[in-house]
Amino acid sequence: MAIREIITFPHPVLRQKAETITEFDDALKTLVEDMADTMYKAPGVGLAANQIGIAKRVVVIDPEADEEKRDYLVLINPEITQGEGSMVGEEGCLSVLECYDKVKRFQKIHVTAQDIEGKPLEFDAEDRFARIIQHEVDHLLGKLFIDHLSPLKRTLYKKKLKKILRNKQ
Ligand SMILES: [Zn+2]
Repeated sequence: MAIREIITFPHPVLRQKAETITEFDDALKTLVEDMADTMYKAPGVGLAANQIGIAKRVVVIDPEADEEKRDYLVLINPEITQGEGSMVGEEGCLSVLECYDKVKRFQKIHVTAQDIEGKPLEFDAEDRFARIIQHEVDHLLGKLFIDHLSPLKRTLYKKKLKKILRNKQ
């Protein structure tokens, strides 16, 4: 069990396109366990490997964020192959300090991925669950939820972040 440091914006690893996983070995299992530990500790409902500084296509998700149950979904090499409808809802991110805003997403998506053994997974997701997956898959593409905000909102957030970081020193 290991809790890793969560990397925050504007660190460049969050902008890296994550690499496809080809080896489903013990190192991958350790990475996934560490990611789950880190997600529950935060606490958050999802975490992408970029967020702990590893640009690989690995995501863990638990919409309940329930550490007692630890019933989390592991998605290796996830891809959103179809999206339909739209919904607007508030998002935040463990890697984007003190920022919450409304983001438009597909209401329903079709997802393909692999599990921790490398077996193919394929399923539909809707509503909040679909929102979390879209947020996490964005991370693997080097995208952040603030990229979906207006340029003005992003500029204001960058100013706010400067102050936050200054006060932390
Ligand atoms: Zn995030």
